[in-house]
Amino acid sequence: MKLCGRCNRQLKTSKSMELGFGPVCYRKHQQELADAEFVRNQVTIDEIMDGAVRRAS
Ligand SMILES: [Zn+2]
Repeated sequence: MKLCGRCNRQLKTSKSMELGFGPVCYRKHQQELADAEFVRNQVTIDEIMDGAVRRAS
């Protein structure tokens, strides 16, 4: 028996077990990864901007 990595409900299909998430949770998980990547890129840009300001002053 395998449980969903997000909501801990029992996974019913072999496909879900392969993914480690139920179909709905897998979609949400993918969206969260995309959002996290977006935030990470934002932080990187901020750090570059911050460094540029520090060099200029
Ligand atoms: Zn789930």
